[in-house]
Formats: sequence, C-alpha cells, structure tokens
Amino acid sequence: MSFNKLGLSPALLKSIQAKGYSNPSEIQQEAIPEILKGKDILAGAQTGTGKTAAFALPILHRLQNAESKRRRVRVLVLVPTRELASQVGESFRDYGSNLRFRTSVLYGGVSINTQIDKIRKGVDIVVATPGRLLDHLNQKTLKLSELETFVLDEADRMLDMGFIRDIKKILQYLPDKKQNLLFSATFPNEIKALADSLLNAPKRIQVRSSNSTAEKVVQVVYPVDKSRKRELLAHCIKEEGWFQVLVFSRTKHGANKLAQQLSKEGIDADAFHGNKSQAQRTRALKDFKDSKTQVLVATDIAARGIDINLLPQVVNFDLPYVPEDYIHRIGRTARAGQEGKAISLVSADEHKLLFDIEKLLNSPIPRETIEGFEPTQNLSTEAPKSRGSRRRKPSNRSKGPERSRSSRGRSSFNKKRNKNSTSKSKRRP
Ligand code: AMP
Repeated sequence: MSFNKLGLSPALLKSIQAKGYSNPSEIQQEAIPEILKGKDILAGAQTGTGKTAAFALPILHRLQNAESKRRRVRVLVLVPTRELASQVGESFRDYGSNLRFRTSVLYGGVSINTQIDKIRKGVDIVVATPGRLLDHLNQKTLKLSELETFVLDEADRMLDMGFIRDIKKILQYLPDKKQNLLFSATFPNEIKALADSLLNAPKRIQVRSSNSTAEKVVQVVYPVDKSRKRELLAHCIKEEGWFQVLVFSRTKHGANKLAQQLSKEGIDADAFHGNKSQAQRTRALKDFKDSKTQVLVATDIAARGIDINLLPQVVNFDLPYVPEDYIHRIGRTARAGQEGKAISLVSADEHKLLFDIEKLLNSPIPRETIEGFEPTQNLSTEAPKSRGSRRRKPSNRSKGPERSRSSRGRSSFNKKRNKNSTSKSKRRP
C-alpha cells in the first residue's frame, strides 16, 4: 500500500517523501484512516512500529483542514519520558514542516519560564510529560479547554512509572468533547479501565505484537561468568568492531561503572540514566546520535523511547527483571523493519530471568559461547524449580493479549526449547 491512498494532504505527503518513507507501516495503514474520520482509537502498538507518525500525520491533516485564525492549544500528546517528548515534538515539526503549526514540548528539569514565554506566543500542539504539564495547569500558564485531540502515548509505561494519578488529574482539565487516541504496548487492568472511561466507541487496532517485533531482531545469548561480562563486552566491541552499541544496565550505578570501565579501556562510552541532569542526558544522546560516542550505557527507564535510526546493536549487560522490558530493550534495534542484533550476556544466576523472557517470546534464544569466555558455571536450559514471580508490579499486569498468548504457547515453547537449547561454540579467527 502507498501513502497516497491514505487520504493525507499533499503537504503531508511531501514531508513523508522527504523523510524517505516509501510505504506506511501496519499501524499507519490501520490508524490513519480512522483518525482522519475523527474516531477514538485504542491501539496496541509499541515503539518502533511507526506509531508516532500514525497519530501525528492524521492529526496534522485535521488541524490543517479546520485551520483557525486564533492560535490555541488544539492537540495534547502525553508521553512518559523527556526523551520521548523531544522525539515526538520533533516528529510533529518534521511532518508539519510544510504547515504553519507551532509545537511546544514541555518537560521538567529545564526552565519553566522559557516554556511559559513560548506558550504565550501561541502554540497549536503540546507534547508533554505529566509532571511539568500539571505544573503549567496548576499555575494556569496553559489552557487546554479548547483541546480537540488528546493522545495518551505509551500508556503502560506511564503506569509503570507511577503517572496514573497525574494522568487522571490532567484529564479533569480537558474538555469532554474531543478525539482521544490511546497507544500502549500492553494492556494491564488499570490501562483497560482508563481506556473505558476515556474513549468513546473506540476503533481497536492491534498491530505486530511486541513478540513478533522481537522476531525481527537477531537475538543471541552469550553465556558468560558474571565476573567476566565487562571483559567480554570490551572484547566484542573491539574484536567485532561494534560501533554504536546501546548497552542496557539494570541500575544507574552499574551504568556509570560500566561506562567508566569501558572508557578506561579506550572505548568511547557514556552513561545515560535518570540521575543525570537533563542537559547531560541531552548531550549524551546527541553525542551518541552524532557517532561521537561509541557506546551508550543506559537504564531501562531512561532509554525508553530513544529513537536512533539504524542502531545496529543492543546489548543486555544484565537481563531485566521484567520480561517485557527485554522486548522494549531489543526494540531499540531493527527499527521500522531494519536489521538489528540484540546480544545478551547471561550468567548462570540469571537463568530464571532468561527463562521468563523466552517464555514470553515463546521461543528459545540461541546460545553462542565465545572462545576464551567459556563460563565455569553452565547456563541451565531447564525450567527453574521455583516458580516464584520476580515481576516488579505483578498486580498491575493483567492477562492481556500478550500474556495469554505466552501461556497458551507454553507447551510448544518447551518443545522448541528442548530441541534448540544446545550451545554452539563460536569460532574466532
Ligand atoms: P516510532 O514507532 O514512532 O517510534 O517510529 C520508529 C521509527 O520508524 C522512527 O525512526 C520513524 O522515523 C520511522 N518510521 C515511521 N514510519 C515509517 C515508515 N512508514 N517507513 C519507514 N520508517 C518509518
């Protein structure tokens, strides 16, 4: 299918062409015509599917069609992180480059006065994180009473980050009559309840689940002793010439330490996490995007929504406690159909975490043992004896589409695991 068939204006088609997109992604094909009709949307789509353009393009089209002389906030996009806010704001500016709308991005950690000045000059589209948006609403520096479209992006991540109460407060500032678009990768009960109260006869769209997105990434596990992970990472970066590697660390401290150790070994590395100031985070991301930094070591929350075109490698230095975070992590590579590789350095003590991830994927991840780094403790391929949960917020998760699919597929998963789980030895020259 071509973008021309979706009913978007020539100005928007020109921007799409300038971005180099040849065909609409699945979420774009499904969502754009519905949003153009003015319908509410409940979309199961994660980052990497092209969901930002799926809402930004039709929103811009509708704004253009009902252009008004008086500038006022007509669109609000609520996102969980500052980085995502910047990226979504940039997308609106890019896609709307042939139009005359003004976009303002509001998040904390930077001067509120600069934001107030900009709002006073008039904006049409606001992209915001919940905390700073509430500051503006409480101080009455922003009015949303004439809002036409509200987008709640990455709703499940909002919930994980504890924003649900802020969202409910924000909703009270919005007019009842508006178009509502809700995007989420998963649908825990609280998100379902929020969707029920917010959306009006929504069109439901479910695109490539996170599981199938994960299948597009070449995934591999390198079994290794915990104490030798850093050495193995440095070895791979140097020997395999990995450039532009996003490395995930479970903790901020771990991210700092790893970045420092890699720097000592002559590898350009930087850390990216929530304890860094916004200026540091922005600089770290810019240096990484500009290829000045080779390795960015990030925590899950900070890296959420990072969009770097053609990011070829993602490394899990340690596995996440929540299996879905693995999907989010590896979604940083193979963006919008491009090729990417996700490598997990896994020590024997992470066996249960790996098992939970493979169960969610409904498929075992191939193991490759790197010569010279053979683990002294084998990574078990058996199901863990204790079935205790290590999830962060078990009560928040429902048996949503992804969950039930993984449990349905469990017996076939176990069959696949038994067939494929023997480790291969990777030969090095
Ligand atoms: P998102 O899921 O919105 O985070 O988008 C992921 C990436 O896909 C971004 O880098 C977009 O620029 C890119 N993208 C969005 N739509 C398309 C498309 N139709 N073709 C190619 N790339 C796209």
